[in-house]
Amino acid sequence: MKYISTRGQIDAIDFQQAVLMGLADDGGLVIPESIPDVADRLDQWRHLSYPQLAFEVIRLFATDIPETDLRELIDRTYGRAFPETVVPTVRVGDLFVMELFHGPTLAFKDVALQLLGNLFEYILARRQGTMNILAATSGDTGSAAIYGVRGRKGIRIFVMHPAGAVSPIQARQMTTVLDDNVHNLAVAGSFADCQNIMKSLAGDLGFKRTYNLGAVNSVNWARVLAQIVYYFKAAFDVREATGEKRIRVCVPTGNFGNVLAGWYARRMGAPISRLILATNRNDILARFFNTGDYSLGKVFQTLAPSMDIQLASNFERYLYYRVGGSPAGLRTMMGQLRQTGSLRVEPDESGAVDPLFAPASADEQQLLDTIRTTWQDHKYLLDPHSAVGVSVARQLAASGAEPIVCLATAHPAKFPAAIRRATGEDLARHPAIDRLMELPTRCTAIDNDLRDVRRFIVEAIG
Ligand SMILES: *Cc1c(COP(=O)(O)O)cnc(C)c1O
Repeated sequence: MKYISTRGQIDAIDFQQAVLMGLADDGGLVIPESIPDVADRLDQWRHLSYPQLAFEVIRLFATDIPETDLRELIDRTYGRAFPETVVPTVRVGDLFVMELFHGPTLAFKDVALQLLGNLFEYILARRQGTMNILAATSGDTGSAAIYGVRGRKGIRIFVMHPAGAVSPIQARQMTTVLDDNVHNLAVAGSFADCQNIMKSLAGDLGFKRTYNLGAVNSVNWARVLAQIVYYFKAAFDVREATGEKRIRVCVPTGNFGNVLAGWYARRMGAPISRLILATNRNDILARFFNTGDYSLGKVFQTLAPSMDIQLASNFERYLYYRVGGSPAGLRTMMGQLRQTGSLRVEPDESGAVDPLFAPASADEQQLLDTIRTTWQDHKYLLDPHSAVGVSVARQLAASGAEPIVCLATAHPAKFPAAIRRATGEDLARHPAIDRLMELPTRCTAIDNDLRDVRRFIVEAIG
């Protein structure tokens, strides 16, 4: 399998190069040259374990890694850091909930970042290369990325978070990791400032090449790839439980990374009739799929902070296919978005922007009500992000017949304040979180200044 850029201005590369490149060198996103059709393999795949299924999916895209190596790498990823079922599906009333949060940082990002860490180490070892990862985080990505690469040979990671603006638990999940290859930077600025610094440094091709800069945010193709697997698994789990062959999947969305993996799974032949796209008050993606209008607005802070996003970094991949796979057409649209802050796609005659997507959003009250009623009625505790999904799934349940699987993206113990507000009780506990409060921390405070961050990185690399 070869990889190209949505903007059409890089030479085709193989999987390992795609993983190392992160963001494409022409500023676009890396995508596979074609999408394999696996519809005739579903019966063979139905009873596979999670690591076996992951191997079958990933090997179609990672054709330049020998199969014995790939199998070992995947077994190691999903054997060690996760429970045996990896992403268990449970019944909650009329809905199914697939729990994606059983990795080391208790958020769904572990499913992809544990694999990415192993891939980086494998690829670098064979090239005798090194990599320096630069990341900006509003909370979950940073800790999952740190746990993905801590202690690994040939890799250093620099994670910027806005000082004082991530939750105490999220800050501790990052700063209690004391491995030499992990550098936490508390930037005196906002998450957007951190992102801007990261984009400036990663966009400086000279700097990127000199310091072998790598990316762990969801622009990295390997992250999307790892997430495709559980959409198949969700369909198989529901078939096992109910005999139903097709499902709807409800996905709480921020950067459009998770739900994009669902889109690829469906294109490959996963038996998914609808992708229910759930947003919080930052509803730009729900608005887009309702009206075709993608207009950037201001970012609201909500109880589901990992979804407080306007410019969804993976949306470009979807748009590429949407404009018929034309890099020139896509460049025009992205240019328009950059200049005017908005772009538009025309709905079809039925008024739908894309009939595969069913979009809706949940505000703060709906989110809190959903946590409370789900606890009262089913003794099941949702975190605020998963609650946005469940709220939207309930809003849209009657518009289709297939069972709905809601993806649960974080463990509720990561967000105790929201749980207390919703239920009036301290219900959300996890031993890994309790332990964090006693551990020593390491973190460097730094000005909101590109030059300071650049100097820090250069000196740390030595
Ligand atoms: C990152 C994250 C999301 C959003 O996922 P995207 O891939 O950005 O759409 C939702 N919930 C949690 C808990 C997250 O950490």
